[in-house]
Amino acid sequence: VAGNGSAARPKFIVNSPNVVYSDSEIRSKYTYRTTMVTDGEDGTRTVTPKETVYDFKLDTKIPKVGVMLVGLGGNNGTTITAGIIANRRGLVWETRNGRQAANYYGSVVMGSTLKLGTDTKTQQDVNIPFHDVLPMVHPNDLVIGGWDISGMNLADAMDRAKVLEPTLKALVHKEMASMVPLPSIYYPDFIAANQEERADNLIAGSKACMAHVEQIRKDIRDFKAANNLDKVIVQWTANTERFADLIDGVNDTADNLLKAIEAGHEEVSPSTVFAVACILENAPFINGSPQNTFVPGCIELAEKHNAFIGGDDFKSGQTKMKSALVDFMISAGIKLTSIASYNHLGNNDGMNLSSHRQFRSKEISKSNVVDDMVAANTVLYAKDEHPDHVVVIKYIPAVGDSKRAMDEYSAEIFLGGHQTISMSNVCEDSLLASPLIIDLVVIAELMTRIQWKLHSAEGEDAKGYKNFHSVLSVLSYMLKAPLTPPGTPVVNALAKQRAALANIFRACVGLEPESDMTLEHKLF
Ligand code: NAD
Repeated sequence: VAGNGSAARPKFIVNSPNVVYSDSEIRSKYTYRTTMVTDGEDGTRTVTPKETVYDFKLDTKIPKVGVMLVGLGGNNGTTITAGIIANRRGLVWETRNGRQAANYYGSVVMGSTLKLGTDTKTQQDVNIPFHDVLPMVHPNDLVIGGWDISGMNLADAMDRAKVLEPTLKALVHKEMASMVPLPSIYYPDFIAANQEERADNLIAGSKACMAHVEQIRKDIRDFKAANNLDKVIVQWTANTERFADLIDGVNDTADNLLKAIEAGHEEVSPSTVFAVACILENAPFINGSPQNTFVPGCIELAEKHNAFIGGDDFKSGQTKMKSALVDFMISAGIKLTSIASYNHLGNNDGMNLSSHRQFRSKEISKSNVVDDMVAANTVLYAKDEHPDHVVVIKYIPAVGDSKRAMDEYSAEIFLGGHQTISMSNVCEDSLLASPLIIDLVVIAELMTRIQWKLHSAEGEDAKGYKNFHSVLSVLSYMLKAPLTPPGTPVVNALAKQRAALANIFRACVGLEPESDMTLEHKLF
């Protein structure tokens, strides 16, 4: 039960000397096996299996968790809020296709399963809900709040969003109407001028300052106290901002960034001010939009404070498809030569993106998503060779939140042949993004309860338990332009991202990665 201070009972017990259960913890000893490659001067290549033994410790007490959304009154903000209320109350509503019950489709945590192992009697796979692998908070138990520059209550904001069926809206209207976003910070230069009309719920001041950081910190503390919460996770699902210029002495180091905020420097964005406030308040902060919120100074600040951050840009539709399809093509040995991606959408996000500087942030975020897959295939691509890749986004008000994505993939196949795959994807943008936002909260919260150390038998190196790195790259599956710890590789391929997530969770209960070798079905 969330927040009652007792540990959740595990859904299964691992029968291994490497896994120890107590009232409040699961401890596991886990051997991580990797492969190291050394290229010698004489051209010889030596490949050495490497083993590192880790101790993992998971706090199994599920805390009472609050989520504060920046952009609470937007399409995503209102859709998540209504969706969680609908699930919590087990609502069923009439649609033209019949009765629809609340669900969490589209959430990896709530809607997908994981192979746990093989049944001893039937030899068949045993699959369990992803949510049951480790003790995780249930989305129904999340307390929602947040900020918006538009002061509309959430019932009216839900009408403005035009995402949900009227019958569902009627059922959640009363509760939504009682929720009004907190005032937020608005620096007009960072988002499109066409957003100005809705900016009526503002904290005074139009550039970064410490008073803004302090106000946001206070808002988090007040929300925590008012709702009796153990933890608050903050997510930016507000408008896409333009990129901030990277300037030495301004946002290059943690100290300079704090000084720049104190001095009211014009190049510090609202999202960076939110990130800084959350880091100082030790509330994990996730950026769901494409801009460079995490300037180098902001990442350094998070590292200094041992605070968790994650980003950037929710990966919901076109890019998710791309990171699956391109992975398939290139790992099948097919030479992808071009990707042309067109989008049109008619919601407020689309209107904001119709402004060039904000579109540019999205274009950058959408453009790098195949780089790792291309770079990995040295058979098909020469060094620095890339497929052509163009991304177009247009604002067409008539289609509302129902985003259209049209993609054409061209590839070179055997003996100079050609393959062209054309794809058209129509879906409600916010209904795809909202479950991902829930996954990000649930997984980020879980990551705050997992600690590791080198196993003591490793000798001198073994120190006390530590957190994962401040930059939670384990969230990559849900994000278009995954932020990784400085200097570490970015993985965009969707299957690898999911495997990392699943296998890290398995390691916490002493289980090997799922290798899919199924030798038990091949060698007998
Ligand atoms: P939206 O325009 O409906 O909502 C954004 C909200 O943020 C608005 O209510 C706006 O008033 C508010 N806002 C703007 N600046 C703010 C500030 N400084 N402080 C507080 N509130 C502020 O957009 P949406 O469809 O909900 O999408 C939100 C963001 O998520 C966008 O940046 C979008 O690019 C990103 N995103 C969405 C999807 C998706 O919906 N499928 C996918 C990836 C990324």
